[in-house]
Amino acid sequence: MLLEKERSLIVDYGKRLLASGLTVGTGGNLSVCDRTTGYVAISPSGLDYESTQPEDVVVVDRGGVVVDGSRRPSSELAMHLGLYEKRPDVCAVVHTHSVFATTLACLECSLPAVHYLIGFAGHEVKCAPYATFGTQELADSACSIIGDAKAVLLAHHGLLAAGADMAEAFMVAEQVEYCAELYWRARAIGKPAVIADREMDTIIDKFGDYGRP
Ligand SMILES: [Zn+2]
Repeated sequence: MLLEKERSLIVDYGKRLLASGLTVGTGGNLSVCDRTTGYVAISPSGLDYESTQPEDVVVVDRGGVVVDGSRRPSSELAMHLGLYEKRPDVCAVVHTHSVFATTLACLECSLPAVHYLIGFAGHEVKCAPYATFGTQELADSACSIIGDAKAVLLAHHGLLAAGADMAEAFMVAEQVEYCAELYWRARAIGKPAVIADREMDTIIDKFGDYGRP
């Protein structure tokens, strides 16, 4: 089976998406890019995570053509492929509709650095302008606004998180959700203060040493 290891990762982390509460039902999607072949293993469209098997995971080439698997790839395929095209450092992508990140996205509001853990994603998590789900327009919006960060909010939709591998992309999605909840709580009782850019540089440097899972 093509990309067997990557397909198993999609199955394992799909179950973790559910267990962690980052998604419900068939919401969200995940992919891993094999930089050697250029092939991408992506979760199938509309199949629940609990019953997904490695052979259900779809393998596509960089143009989105299915090279292995009998199911349809996730409807957000263009967003995953767009990010792999734009960012050679990214080899895994996690897309969720997690509640607190999406709450900010509903306000078309970026997530500022109110807690140091946002450093796993970057200096802040910007919010990409709205576009219809599953469109090239959404892919372009997300890929242009993410810049060199590892996460971007999608207005009125959810969150896109990226990493050098699946463990990192998933961790980024978890940390952004945690920081989004803190920001929501802080805003409920006051005006949150934001960590200075220079201090965020220091934090991100330190994460480089030990922050990786
Ligand atoms: Zn979505």
